Amino acid sequence: MNLSNKVYLQLLIKSGVHYFQKNQPNIYYNKNNNIEESKINFSLDFINNIDELINSINSFDSPLKKTAKNLVLFDGNINSDLMIIGEAPGKDEDNLGKPFVGRAGQLLNKMLSAINLKRQDVYITNVLPWRPPNNRTPTDSEILEFLPFLQKHIEIIKPKVILLLGATASKAILSTPLTLSKLRGKFYNYKSLNLGYTIKTLVSYHPAFLLRSPNYKKEAWNDLQLLQKKITDEN
Ligand code: URA
Repeated sequence: MNLSNKVYLQLLIKSGVHYFQKNQPNIYYNKNNNIEESKINFSLDFINNIDELINSINSFDSPLKKTAKNLVLFDGNINSDLMIIGEAPGKDEDNLGKPFVGRAGQLLNKMLSAINLKRQDVYITNVLPWRPPNNRTPTDSEILEFLPFLQKHIEIIKPKVILLLGATASKAILSTPLTLSKLRGKFYNYKSLNLGYTIKTLVSYHPAFLLRSPNYKKEAWNDLQLLQKKITDEN
């Protein structure tokens, strides 16, 4: 069904989306999506930890759950200051139930080690916890449906710094249609309804994109150096 303006606005507000732009939130997402009203009228207020988050995602009715093999929620260090957010699990991730374990994940590991971070030092997640069929790009409806879970996830982990990898993560967290080339290389302030502080948030290229377009690795390297400096400054 298509949502009424009122219900749609309610969804955006609940998702925390309204924090990231001053006006007209609906220009960033296509309103003619297929989100059912029942998906909006649920509360995540009772969730305080990762196990509760896993339970609530598992009981949330999504067509993606039916086609995926495993829930892919996170990997890494739950106490890390750095949270890395990608797009969605691919085939390898779906098989293993862990994010960024395929070719893109191997490149991510190398990128991290270039700034002296190990995978075990950081916290890694995605916008979607289920693999979209044939690895297609998540739709606006899917991003919005899972955004409250992602917001809650960030509130539980409480990182000092967030790294957004690629367009889907940037759109979800910064609610922006701007291209990555415009967004990357700068820090943004992320805040959500229940978060008592702002989180420094950097945008960079997705490793899967870098595998296809290695010419952009130099810019990605500049971003990584910015990230390294910010982590040092925050400590
Ligand atoms: N690409 C992503 O965005 N996330 C993964 O977990 C794997 C590949």
